[in-house]
Amino acid sequence: MKVAVIGGGAAGFFAALSVKQHHPKAQVSIFEKTQKLLSKVKISGGGRCNVTNACTSISQLSKAYPRGEKLLKKAFRVFSTQDTMEWFRARRVGLVIQEDNCVFPKTQDSQTVIDCFTREASRLGIDIRKGMGVSKLERKLGKIGLSFIKDPEEQWFDKVIIATGGSPKRSGLQWLEDIGHKIEEPVPSLFTFNMPQEKITRLMGIVVENALVTIQGTKLKSTGPLLITHWGMSGPAILKLSAFGARILHAKNYTCKAQVNWVNTVNHDEVALEIKNIIGQFPKRILANIRPYFLPERLWHFLLEKSGLPPDKKWENLGKKGMNKLVTLLTNDVYDVSGKTTFKEEFVTCGGVSLSNIDYKTMQSKVLANIYFAGEVMDIDGITGGYNFQSAWTTAFIAGKLA
Ligand SMILES: Cc1cc2nc3c(=O)[nH]c(=O)nc-3n(C[C@H](O)[C@H](O)[C@H](O)COP(=O)(O)OP(=O)(O)OC[C@H]3O[C@@H](n4cnc5c(N)ncnc54)[C@H](O)[C@@H]3O)c2cc1C
Repeated sequence: MKVAVIGGGAAGFFAALSVKQHHPKAQVSIFEKTQKLLSKVKISGGGRCNVTNACTSISQLSKAYPRGEKLLKKAFRVFSTQDTMEWFRARRVGLVIQEDNCVFPKTQDSQTVIDCFTREASRLGIDIRKGMGVSKLERKLGKIGLSFIKDPEEQWFDKVIIATGGSPKRSGLQWLEDIGHKIEEPVPSLFTFNMPQEKITRLMGIVVENALVTIQGTKLKSTGPLLITHWGMSGPAILKLSAFGARILHAKNYTCKAQVNWVNTVNHDEVALEIKNIIGQFPKRILANIRPYFLPERLWHFLLEKSGLPPDKKWENLGKKGMNKLVTLLTNDVYDVSGKTTFKEEFVTCGGVSLSNIDYKTMQSKVLANIYFAGEVMDIDGITGGYNFQSAWTTAFIAGKLA
């Protein structure tokens, strides 16, 4: 059996290794367009490579994927996050689990993962061809022919695994559309919000541990740590929102109003009670000196300034109007978003080959037999935290096993 894997990235390597693991006699070739293998693995996780997430609950894990949740719910039963960790440990790649469940190589160096893959590929006799971008795919007499961008010679295979990664431009997926696949329009996911008109950017570096962010006029909402940056807002709460709202925000041309609930409490009476408690305990102290919910000092002073309340006013003199102002500001503080910035640690593409064209059990194309998909080329993407590599490992493992 001759198997071609298109793409020498995370999913391509893992799929090729899975083919050899399950079908040792298969002849496997990886075709990589560029001169570099595993280039995203190299830069991933700030050079440390967040290989997976230690979450073991499949239903919880699959919720980390705005696109692909249903497919992955099935697929994780075949190859889970625990399987990933065992796979690496069995190949002498020590791993560490951080407090936030993110899993990294013990060396804190992505090169360890690259070395492991290349060592395994060489041990198993996988043929690797660099500078071999595939431009066309055709089926004849049960075989699949590949044409290459720079090589005039067509090559024929029994099975082909497509692992070409996310394509920010639709044109990059044209060759797959040409053979009958439906393409979900690619748009960016995992980005931060630009707020050029907002003075809050003066507070860059401040983190609010548990904020709730919603997008006005939509049902989009997300909770978690929020980081104020010199261009706007970032941190897990914003990144999650950008992932789940990738299409909606794209349609709005990344111009919208973000409503920040700084204390992640939607019940206004509860917030009012917190303020009443402060008034009861510290009536003679001034507003500037007692921070509700232990908000960061600079943020609290900024919010007071925004509310128009004098910072040297005594808490006992807050009054009903002042109370209402504070409750509104703490729970519904609105900021103009105008544009996005790529998140350097990790960014992915929402969109790709439609999951309606893929058999969830085998990763085989429903359009053309003997063609399989693995990784981000499909309409699958996750939030940050090792989830994107996990979906690459899982889909590649299945495609390789069943090819
Ligand atoms: C800066 C950054 C950091 C990241 N950090 C993390 C992280 O720490 N943890 C995590 O889980 N995720 C992370 N991600 C996301 C993760 O890297 C991707 O989801 C993952 O690499 C997808 O794997 P893939 O093999 O599907 O695609 P890719 O890794 O993109 O590989 C696809 C390969 O196919 C090749 N190719 C494309 N077209 C062709 C063609 N026609 N013929 C031949 N070859 C072709 C490409 O050149 C590429 O080498 C990060 C992403 C970025 C950009």
